[in-house]
Amino acid sequence: MRKSQFPWIVVIIVVVATAAWHLVGFILAGLFLLVSYIISLRLHPRMRHGRCKGTGELRGSVFTWTHRRCPSPNCQAGRTVRVGNRLLGSDYIKGQRADGIASKKAALQQHQHR
Ligand SMILES: [Zn+2]
Repeated sequence: MRKSQFPWIVVIIVVVATAAWHLVGFILAGLFLLVSYIISLRLHPRMRHGRCKGTGELRGSVFTWTHRRCPSPNCQAGRTVRVGNRLLGSDYIKGQRADGIASKKAALQQHQHR
């Protein structure tokens, strides 16, 4: 059975805090989750790219054993930098993201991305 990816713990924290302390609890839960999200971005700045499911390849529909590289500028061999890092990430990861996108776009313009 596939493990659910929805972060149910977030919903539980907000509901419990709101039930216990009403508006103050809701605001404190929101602040706690915001800080947790920023820490999570620093600890786990990357994720699998959704379109290619982390493989970095798009399969041929006729000759199914063949593939080409995933053309998305955000995708670096199946991995991508999480969206939140655009604003909240470290300078290093922002640079990694920008470098990856720039090199992928250059390759796409020169038709050398396959
Ligand atoms: Zn991809």
